Amino acid sequence: MQDNQTVDKKEQYNLNKLQKRLRRNVGEAIADFNMIEEGDRIMVCLSGGKDSYTMLEILRSLQKSAPVNFSLIAVNLDQKQPGFPEHILPQYLEAQGVEYRIIEEDTYSIVKDKVPEGKTTCSLCSRLRRGILYRVATELGCTKIALGHHRDDILQTLFLNMFYGGKLKGMPPKLMSDDGKQIVIRPLAYCREKDIIRFSEARQFPIIPCNLCGSQPNLQRQVVADMLRDWDKRYPGRIETMFSAMQNVVPSHLADISLFDFKGIKHGDAVVDGGDLAFDRESLPLQPVGWRADEEDAPDLSARLDVLQIK
Ligand code: SF4
Repeated sequence: MQDNQTVDKKEQYNLNKLQKRLRRNVGEAIADFNMIEEGDRIMVCLSGGKDSYTMLEILRSLQKSAPVNFSLIAVNLDQKQPGFPEHILPQYLEAQGVEYRIIEEDTYSIVKDKVPEGKTTCSLCSRLRRGILYRVATELGCTKIALGHHRDDILQTLFLNMFYGGKLKGMPPKLMSDDGKQIVIRPLAYCREKDIIRFSEARQFPIIPCNLCGSQPNLQRQVVADMLRDWDKRYPGRIETMFSAMQNVVPSHLADISLFDFKGIKHGDAVVDGGDLAFDRESLPLQPVGWRADEEDAPDLSARLDVLQIK
């Protein structure tokens, strides 16, 4: 039987490993997309949820060893939802020694006033929030705005756009803001939500519930999230493969005539991007592309072979 000390040591070891993985994921995303440059002042949007706490902590930890100098300022928008626990974030941020601002704007009343009873409030609410955050970033002299969306958010958005929007479009790790004045970055773009959940639980972040506005959760997003979670359980590696697919787009094998000159294909042209060979069954790898087994969630090989119906 393990004694308490052994369990604590093991927990600490696992937490260190998890933090290392999150740091590695964030570091890779920052490098791949050139998210942070010398002298950047980054506004870290802190909602009080697990994702934004994790983003802040990992960015602070990377800041200590990064080859470039940058500063962070945490910003929370208090939208005046009834019951918003105003003391939680200031207490936490002061204890951590993080520079911060709490912005108070009563978007809750505006949304309640403008959106008819029974209609979804999120789109007006997030438009208002976005405008305020862009304005505050400019006022604070920030060069980047960091949002806490992670890999699973990005994939969910991809599927939502495919299922309901008729577009092959996800959520970019880096983009120009709608007003053309800010660069928005998503440093958690390569991080798995399940790692963030475990990290946040281990760190015991003081989470602020996100249902204070009384809005219904986005049902379509929930359905897609459940679908992805189910796939992740039943087909280990599928999520990683799908995310890799977002980084390996082959326009010549899709059907967007604005991305590839299909009309210009003529006799005598060279084969483009592997021609049709990519569809040969035999060429599909047994191991999903981009999948790396981690000790704690490496699937049992026999289960994988069952899924693939290989005995
Ligand atoms: S859940 Fe509430 S606070 Fe969040 S975007 Fe929707 S209306 Fe706004």
